[in-house]
This record gives sequence, structure tokens and C-alpha cells, in this order.
Amino acid sequence: MAVPFVEDWDLVQTLGEGAYGEVQLAVNRQTEEAVAVKIVDMRRATECPENIRKEICINKMLNHVNIVRFYGYRREGSIQYLFLEYCSGGELFDRIEPDVGMPEADAQRYFQHLIAGVEYLHGIGITHRDIKPENLLLDDKDNLKISDFGLATVFRHSGRERLLNKMCGTLPYVAPELLKAKEFHAEPVDVWSCGIVLTAMLAGELPWDQPTESCHEYSDWLEKKSFLTPWKKIDTLPLGLLSKILMENPKKRISIPDIKKDRWYTRLLKKGVKRIRALSGGPSDSPGTFSKQIRSDMDLSPMASAYSEERIKYSSSQPEPRTAFSSWESSHSCIDKLVQGISFSQPACPDHMLLSSQLLGTPGSSQNPWQRLVKRMTRFFTKVDAVRTYSALKDVCEAMGYTWKKSCINQVTVSTTDRRNNQLVFKVNLLEMDDKILVDFRLSKGDGLEFKRYFLKIKGKLNDIISTQKVQLPVI
Ligand code: ATP
Repeated sequence: MAVPFVEDWDLVQTLGEGAYGEVQLAVNRQTEEAVAVKIVDMRRATECPENIRKEICINKMLNHVNIVRFYGYRREGSIQYLFLEYCSGGELFDRIEPDVGMPEADAQRYFQHLIAGVEYLHGIGITHRDIKPENLLLDDKDNLKISDFGLATVFRHSGRERLLNKMCGTLPYVAPELLKAKEFHAEPVDVWSCGIVLTAMLAGELPWDQPTESCHEYSDWLEKKSFLTPWKKIDTLPLGLLSKILMENPKKRISIPDIKKDRWYTRLLKKGVKRIRALSGGPSDSPGTFSKQIRSDMDLSPMASAYSEERIKYSSSQPEPRTAFSSWESSHSCIDKLVQGISFSQPACPDHMLLSSQLLGTPGSSQNPWQRLVKRMTRFFTKVDAVRTYSALKDVCEAMGYTWKKSCINQVTVSTTDRRNNQLVFKVNLLEMDDKILVDFRLSKGDGLEFKRYFLKIKGKLNDIISTQKVQLPVI
């Protein structure tokens, strides 16, 4: 059952988890507006309550189409709520096919959105400091939105820039100077991580564990060995841009105004086609020759047809974009109510609320369950019942040596370590929808691309129970 949160608002689904709490989807019973609610337990965040305050403070300053909108915040006892624009398109990493990437035109578009957002942030003196595909969300129209300002800070105030000295971020995405120098400029560090994101989008893999000479992939890059992976998968023009972004010396690193003038960045690309350089090729490959044209097959999942429908519906239930913060505030009394409201009890595990049989009986559930699902590629339908699905999944995970733990009704937590030896934890929800079982995987802790690799491995082993039938959407 959907759990009442604030008068007229229900918490219907867990969207994600972070270090100190989780993010839930709240839907208004009357207007069907959808808002993401970040719930932080300040008791768990004892070592850095300052970070949450800073996150709120920075969020209040932001207003840009490529940044997740902040509607407001509320504190109740030890629980801090942050109300944010709901990004129904999910996370960017989910659009990256492991070891392949995505069509070049899509990568270019997302990259342009990312650069627009980062340019805005830098323009108002803010650095994000943790740019990675897990923190880049997509809205119902596939626009990229920068999210999670938990590590962001002000580097320029009243025209005066301060150098940074704190090491923060995620190792494969951090710039080399952060690991070497005592002090460094903020802007080139964000630019570097945008380059790693672009590499991941174009090649489906991260180039190195960390940018230090002890890491041989990074040394190879410094020696310009672009015939090695991931570089050999990337076309000459975007590779040219990447070599200017992933420039070790931050003083020589390309700036955002120059990125915006780059030939690949400004080039008109045909949508849906991924162009790659000759796979057998080495440095002798002549620029601009392609041995292969491949299309991304990411839309093969049974959910693909549902997504477009879901998008159409959601676009009508999202709060209108605000032009100025004040004008938005006065015209959205129901979100105001959510921000100021009195809360009811918290659900222990709200994911099971998506069980359609229960959902349909809930007041205000005129939406069909499809609309409430965040868009994710990491899911599939099975053609067997819930009990058989559960045991098949358990057998596969256990045979692969993963730790399996039932977290609550219809949900299991699977833990393992990835190929970089980092912890990888994900949640699997079994949802009954249209008489089928939807098996929905969500990353809980670890690297997004690795998570996708593990998902594909598990999916491959469950082939005999996976439904290939296109799902018929109920007419709304
Ligand atoms: P971290 O430990 O990575 O810093 P966090 O506690 O700061 O995490 P977020 O990164 O803000 O939490 O959110 C965790 C996850 O919740 C995201 O990766 C995303 O999947 C989901 N999420 C967050 N905000 C939204 C949103 N506005 N719309 C949809 N999903 C969201």
C-alpha cells in the first residue's frame, strides 16, 4: 500500500540510496505531481552534519535546466528531508552499455547538457567535485540533470577565487592534481571528471582506477597509446577532445569556453549511430575511417515500449519548470504543502508498495503502476511465477558466489566485490505487474558500470525464464 507521507502525498517507491539515507518518490494523490524526497538520518550523518547543511545551502542557490531543481527542505527530529525535481529517466550510467558505450550522438547531447550545467555552476562560483554517471540523472525528456551536491563547495566568492586542498570525489573520476598537489584550482578538476564521463559514454568503460603513474593504464595514456582500449573504441574527433580534457597539467587542460568551440562538440551528429574506429587498428589508422557501424541494442528490453508511454504521461505530471525561484514557489501550493507539511509514519520498506494489486486499491492511485517506475534498463520480466523467479535468481546469485540476503517482502540485497575489488551491493525487487513478474535491479553501493556488468551476467544466466514478449500497456 502506498504510504501517506504528508497530507495528499504518498511515498510510492525507493528511487535510490546514498551513504546517509535514501531517496523516495512522492506522488500527489490529487494532481499526480511527482517529487523526489531525499531522506537523511542526521544520526547516521553525525560526522558530517555540516555537509547536509552545505548541500541545502548550495541547492538553494541553483536554478538551471541541467541541474536537478530544489523545491525546499524540512527537518523533523533527526530526519532531514530535501525535496527535489523527480528525474524519471533514471541515472546516466544506466544508458551506458558495458564495454560498448552508447551512440555517439547521444553521448554528444548528454555531454553538451553536462557542460552547460557545469558552466553554470562555475559561473556562480560552485564546484560539484563528484561528477560521475551515478550523479547525472535524466528527466522525462531525456535531459541530463546534475544531482547530489553533497560534496559541492564554493570556490569563488565576490570575484575572489580560492584554491582547494581537500581530496574528495570518486577515484576513477578525480583529476591527477588532486592526488599530487597540495592546492589546486576547482574548475579544471570538474572538467577532468566530465572527460571521464565522456569516455565512459563512448567506450562503456572507465580508463583507469586512478590517475597516478603507478596505474599502468594511466601511464599508457600519458604515453599517448591510443591504440589501446578504451581509446581505440573512440572516433578520432571525440578522442581529440578527450586528449585536451584529460591533459595531466591542469594549466594546459582545455577550459569550458574552449570545449564549447571544439569541432566534435559543435558537430551535427546523426542520431542512433555509433561510429567506432577500426577495432584492429593501431595508431596508423587514418583519421575518419570506420570499419564498423553498430547500433545500440539497449532498447531491446521489454520495458522499452513502456518508456515512451511513461514519458508522455509523466511530462504532464511534473511541476512546471520555474523561471525564477519566487514565481515557482507561489504557484505550487501542493509542493509547498509537502515541504512544510506534517509527516505521517515512515515506511520501513516502501518498495513493496508497487505491487499492482495493492496499488490499485489505494485512494489516489489513478496512475497505473508503469508511470511510477523510474526508467531503468536493469530490469526484465519473467514468464514464471514469483516463487520460481525468486528461487531461480537465488540459485544463480549463489552459484556466482554473491551474498544473498532477503531485505524485506519482495526485496533481496545482493553483495559482492567487483573487478577493482570494490564493494558492490545491489537490491533486487520482484514486482507483480500485468500478471508478470518484473525483476528490478537497483544499485545500492559501488560503481554503476560494474553494476550493469553484473546485471547482464545474471540476466544471461536466467535466459530460460525471461519473457521476451512485448508488454501490452493498459490503455489510460
Ligand atoms: P552518495 O552516497 O552517492 O553521495 P546520496 O546520499 O548523496 O548518495 P544521491 O546520490 O543524491 O544520494 O541519491 C541516491 C540515488 O537516488 C541516485 O543515485 C538516484 O538513483 C536516486 N535519486 C536521487 N535524486 C533523484 C531524483 N531527483 N530523481 C530520481 N532519482 C533520484
